[in-house]
Amino acid sequence: KLVLGIETSCDDTAAAVVDDTGNVLGEAIHSQTEVHLKAGGIIPPVAQQLHKENIQRIVEDALSASRISPSELSAVATTIKPGLALSLGVGLSFSLQLVNQLKKPFIPIHHMEAHALTIRLTHKVEFPFIVLLISGGHCLLALVQGVSDFLLLGKSLDIAPGDMLDKVARRLSLIKHPECSTMSGGRAIEHLAKQGNRWLFDINPPMQNAKNCDFSFTGLQHITDKIIMQKEREEGVEKGQILSSAADIAAAVQHITACHLAKRTHRAILFCKQKNLLSQTNAVLVVSGGVASNLYIRRALEIVANATQCTLLCPPPRLCTDNGIMIAWNGIERLRAGLGILHDVEGIRYEPKCPLGVDISKEVAEAA
Ligand code: ATP
Ligand code: FE
Repeated sequence: KLVLGIETSCDDTAAAVVDDTGNVLGEAIHSQTEVHLKAGGIIPPVAQQLHKENIQRIVEDALSASRISPSELSAVATTIKPGLALSLGVGLSFSLQLVNQLKKPFIPIHHMEAHALTIRLTHKVEFPFIVLLISGGHCLLALVQGVSDFLLLGKSLDIAPGDMLDKVARRLSLIKHPECSTMSGGRAIEHLAKQGNRWLFDINPPMQNAKNCDFSFTGLQHITDKIIMQKEREEGVEKGQILSSAADIAAAVQHITACHLAKRTHRAILFCKQKNLLSQTNAVLVVSGGVASNLYIRRALEIVANATQCTLLCPPPRLCTDNGIMIAWNGIERLRAGLGILHDVEGIRYEPKCPLGVDISKEVAEAA
């Protein structure tokens, strides 16, 4: 079995061909990060235009790298939800044209399901397992019971941790910092935090009294904004200049972020064990998304895993961020499970908003 996967849900145009043993035959990706970094955020019509300019080439590159003829494909799998409407639309209409032309089945993919299942491409992981997805656009905890069988344990009530770190980094003008000018906000925070003292500011972790596994990051962002404003006054530094306490602020924000993520994840694991939804002694905790590459945060989650007799697994960094491989692999998983394979694509639409799985966050809070 061979699946071509196509991803355009946000700011990466990506494609890959994967076989049913998890071999990646070919892949290609075009990242828009640099353009959006300069603009200070993603502008959807710009993202759409760039997807349009690149999708044909990226799909052709992935196919030619894989050295197969398109006629050998078993199916085409494409992200249709959730994501930016304008971006999803480009991938979907391109894919529909392709499947009509090739007369192949189409497998619509949920972007978060693909992130969650990626670990099964790189590691031998059986269902069920817990997944924590943390990136610029996502923040959720789920119990993965099967391909397409998810219990949503918790999610961010506002923004995602990567988004918060990016905002703090922007407010600290880290792009002007000689050591961080080419880094994403999150990476810049991690880099500077190594030189800082995390204990200089007294910040409470978010949602300390909430008994669920939900997350919140805007409060932390606002507290940090206030600290930065106060430091600017104290140091006599203008907005937009680098504070001498920038590293201490980065260390504090990173620490609180790690504590918050660890606390909620701990609660989720305990809940699943209490309900016998997860093995008591050898469960797996998967952490993925751009923020998962943060080693400080990863260590905090490792402590949680050790304390709960779980094994912590992370896909390699290039598979933690958006890519075509995870979409193709999700297609393979669905083919094997016989789930959601369309031979008729009439009426198929993209869905910018689409929760993952069955939301049981209320039950989690009630059990606590
Ligand atoms: P999506 O959410 O759709 O997957 P995204 O572009 O936000 O898209 P990623 O590329 O997975 O997702 O992650 C990017 C985010 O990860 C950014 O917010 C970035 O700041 C954050 N990030 C990257 N490296 C680090 C790091 N070392 N520490 C903390 N955050 C990081
Ligand atoms: Fe993603």
